[in-house]
Amino acid sequence: MKQSFLSKLACPFDKEDLSIRIFKQDNQEILEGILTCNHCNRYYPIVQGIPIMSPDEYRELSLEIPILEKWGVKVLAEKDRPVFKLVAGNDNQERLPYNASEEQDKFL
Ligand SMILES: [Zn+2]
Repeated sequence: MKQSFLSKLACPFDKEDLSIRIFKQDNQEILEGILTCNHCNRYYPIVQGIPIMSPDEYRELSLEIPILEKWGVKVLAEKDRPVFKLVAGNDNQERLPYNASEEQDKFL
């Protein structure tokens, strides 16, 4: 991913701005890194130059954990992890445990 492309990216969930941490780069090309939403605190890894920005339901956390660990990035413990969000981030933000069944009830 070209570094200049960064300014065109937004969080697919809430369209807010993203922060980046770069772990591997070749000139202007970002090969490995992590994008973090400044608003919802979701993260999107960049693997082999490709930003993984699929919706939560199309992502597989177990596949991402080894990559994040290699980079030294911590995710929330499984029991109180709102999907695809990091431990580090906006401290003012409330971290309610994600409850899928409760969310579904709202639409019934
Ligand atoms: Zn977001």
